[in-house]
Amino acid sequence: MTNFQVIIIGGGPIGIACALECEKRGWHYTIIEKGALTNSIYNYPLNMRFFSTSEKLELDNIPFISNQPKPNRDEALEYYRRVVTSNNLKIKLFETVEAVEKNQNKFVITTDKNQYLSEKVIIASGFYDLPKMLNVPGENLPKVSHYFTEAHPYILQKVAVIGASNSSVDAALEIWRKGGDVTMIVRGEAIGERVKYWVRPDMVNRIAEGSIKAYFNAEVTTIDEKSISFKTTEEEITIENDFVLALTGYRPNLEFLKNIGIEFSNDNLEKPVYNQDTMETNIKGLYLAGVICGGQETHKWFIENSRVHAKLIAEHLDGILIEG
Ligand SMILES: Cc1cc2nc3c(=O)[nH]c(=O)nc-3n(C[C@H](O)[C@H](O)[C@H](O)COP(=O)(O)OP(=O)(O)OC[C@H]3O[C@@H](n4cnc5c(N)ncnc54)[C@H](O)[C@@H]3O)c2cc1C
Repeated sequence: MTNFQVIIIGGGPIGIACALECEKRGWHYTIIEKGALTNSIYNYPLNMRFFSTSEKLELDNIPFISNQPKPNRDEALEYYRRVVTSNNLKIKLFETVEAVEKNQNKFVITTDKNQYLSEKVIIASGFYDLPKMLNVPGENLPKVSHYFTEAHPYILQKVAVIGASNSSVDAALEIWRKGGDVTMIVRGEAIGERVKYWVRPDMVNRIAEGSIKAYFNAEVTTIDEKSISFKTTEEEITIENDFVLALTGYRPNLEFLKNIGIEFSNDNLEKPVYNQDTMETNIKGLYLAGVICGGQETHKWFIENSRVHAKLIAEHLDGILIEG
């Protein structure tokens, strides 16, 4: 069984930031990533643009040059790719960590391909893999998707976009601009307050002029081959429909953390408990980094404000890491 000093679970921006710290210190480490490098960003909408300016997405002060102040998905993929390759970071791709167990002073990491031993483990597994389900009949029809990639398939089609957050608003506007017939079905009473301040007025105005239809205080009840039904405070409505984009958010795999024995807050936000100075959990030697730290509060941590986790962990490990 290969023996590491540090295993990092997740090859997103924050897992990469952790690997940079390990590489600089000459530690024997690897990232284990279940998909492609930066798998979450790879699966973002093709035309997405970050709300952060490029220097706020930089890791370890490695310059991120972008054509615009706010980079797009392609530029981010290029940047993180170059950070990994030019720093020779160690990473195993397309390998899923299934379990982490502490056995005396070491962790046994079981993947779908292998087993490894490690002195320390950093979990930076993000939140983008598990969509929040609507749990309504018809949700498993092929016309329903929880991810939006690009507008082209939806032109000249009747598309219901469910949700009113950044992802839903971006998708609705892009599909409408390319020629789709868009209806938004929104559980709340308005377009979300956290929608980017330069995008929200565009959405509100498209609804006001009737270009994009919107139903508020509305909950989907059934999806059928050719229609979608929802109830508002006043009535039950059924409209014709070809495609449904259920962009109601994503949730982290907290069961994975619970199975390892990580403690959680007692409120309904299900926040994992960790030391905010060191990022160490209740399990000695096991650390959390990145968006996973927020539990169900998936908007709390993002690249900008969580890249610092890598340094906090590495500085804590500096004094205690045993030579592998
Ligand atoms: C549309 C959109 C726009 C955004 N714009 C911005 C922005 O402008 N600025 C900003 O700071 N943030 C932005 N964010 C948020 C940001 O992308 C995330 O906060 C960031 O990706 C978090 O990085 P991470 O490394 O913690 O997690 P992730 O990037 O999600 O990486 C986690 C990785 O872990 C892997 N993984 C999960 N489970 C396992 C397992 N069991 N075994 C192996 N690998 C596993 C996943 O495949 C994934 O690659 C945006 C998010 C979205 C959806």
